[in-house]
Amino acid sequence: MIMSSTEFFKNLPAKECKKCGETIEEMADCYSHHCDDCEGEIR
Ligand SMILES: [Zn+2]
Repeated sequence: MIMSSTEFFKNLPAKECKKCGETIEEMADCYSHHCDDCEGEIR
């Protein structure tokens, strides 16, 4: 079965920032557990 990347990302569960609980949508292909804001604070 061929799954397009669009379908693939649609099936991914929404990730939430471990720190503030904000939903992470833009970095679905990246295994970051923090949103952009918290990521910036940590580094
Ligand atoms: Zn956050």
